Amino acid sequence: MKILQSVMDQVIKRNPNEPEFHQAVKEVLESLEPVAERHPEWVSAGIFDRIVEPERQIIFRVPWVDDNGKVHVNRGFRVQFNSAIGPYKGGLRFHPSVNLGIIKFLGFEQIFKNSLTGLPIGGGKGGSDFDPKGKSDAEVMRFCQSFMTELSRHIGPDTDVPAGDIGVGGREIGYMYGQYKRLNNDFTGVLTGKGLTWGGSLARTEATGYGLCYFMDEAMKAKGKSFRGSTVIISGSGNVAIYATEKAQQLGANVVALSDSNGYIYDPEGIKLDTVKRIKEVERKRISEYIKYHPNATYTEGCSGIWTIKCDIALPCATQNEIDEKSARILVENGCFAVGEGANMPSTPEAINVFLENKLIFGPAKAANAGGVATSALEMSQNSMRYSWTFEEVDAKLKNIMINIYKSASSAAKEYGDEDNLVMGANIAGFLKVANAMYAQGIAY
Ligand code: NDP
Repeated sequence: MKILQSVMDQVIKRNPNEPEFHQAVKEVLESLEPVAERHPEWVSAGIFDRIVEPERQIIFRVPWVDDNGKVHVNRGFRVQFNSAIGPYKGGLRFHPSVNLGIIKFLGFEQIFKNSLTGLPIGGGKGGSDFDPKGKSDAEVMRFCQSFMTELSRHIGPDTDVPAGDIGVGGREIGYMYGQYKRLNNDFTGVLTGKGLTWGGSLARTEATGYGLCYFMDEAMKAKGKSFRGSTVIISGSGNVAIYATEKAQQLGANVVALSDSNGYIYDPEGIKLDTVKRIKEVERKRISEYIKYHPNATYTEGCSGIWTIKCDIALPCATQNEIDEKSARILVENGCFAVGEGANMPSTPEAINVFLENKLIFGPAKAANAGGVATSALEMSQNSMRYSWTFEEVDAKLKNIMINIYKSASSAAKEYGDEDNLVMGANIAGFLKVANAMYAQGIAY
């Protein structure tokens, strides 16, 4: 980096101890160097300096009482990163690893992802270090109510519209929506991922996983490859992983492995998704339960071993930095030809280099997993219209959006001289629209 190195230096200085945030910013700034060369007016208007600084960061106390009457205190976050092209939009993550740096990395990525969808949504992200695992429904409800009591002061259907992420699914969105409604006395589309009888959109649950497969299908088509007949491994077994499995299977792939944070299952005959849905969505148990129902499958403790299974296509759908350089090299040696990121930043920078050097078809997260937020934006539109589209209508719009994201990323990569580098293409295509809007709106923010 030449022109943008000073921006990176300032990010590191101003945000110490936030390695994930540094990692996300560095990747984007490296891609944007040729854009800075072409647009000196953006450099002098401080667009690059401003885009790496959140517009607003809110940190708050979340006290709640467990079933035994014990008081707990968690920390809540909402980072409202950029509203140049629309209200802040991005999920809430409930996981013990959550801290300000993680939320900032996710919020920063969200700016470009949301822009890539072509829909009018800004970037934000939030969450808490609360761990829903092992908590009763009543405990989760009390936590969500306490969290929303503070968050409700900062969000609104035209201001900031949160959604789900790790640890936040339909149950949590329901409890938070109920509390927001009590506090504000209005029924608006302030959260997405709502239930179908109270403002939710058909196909939102499936959207990130389905969208990932639509994106990868388009990217693979350009190289004469496809899901049909391919062996696929998918990490995670949450919302994104389950629906990526469903769509990959519908497209003719054999999905042979899934995982959770304890270990992974390998079923060479193909994952039986009904069993996984029952274990994870209904019983909320561990993925290891799967082998009780399918004795031909195996379960192995530990997460990273999943990448040693021979496959054609890998879809990391669990969490950040889950594929390191070593795992990336094993995937390449085993003949894997495509990697699509369902999770946010699942590959380390070294792993991405391995994929790019070896000419894999690599779908970076902010493009490949944008189907979730795109469908959330469609939920917002339906809420504003007080109308519901059918599953087929939403799914068709989602597919179209994912194909367009691939085309934008691919043509930006070509235009800026690194054809097939979708990392660079997605960063540039996402950035251009936001930069134009910020430039037009002056230096007020
Ligand atoms: P879920 O909570 O539904 O599932 C997460 C899955 O990943 C679980 O199987 C979980 O296992 C596993 N996991 C979580 N943390 C870790 C960890 N530290 N190490 C290993 N495995 C882990 O979340 P989602 O499916 O919604 O999200 C998965 C990823 O996709 C995240 O990166 C998220 O940001 C991203 N994403 C999600 C979108 C959505 O619409 N939901 C949209 C775009 C991106 P366990 O149950 O053991 O914790």
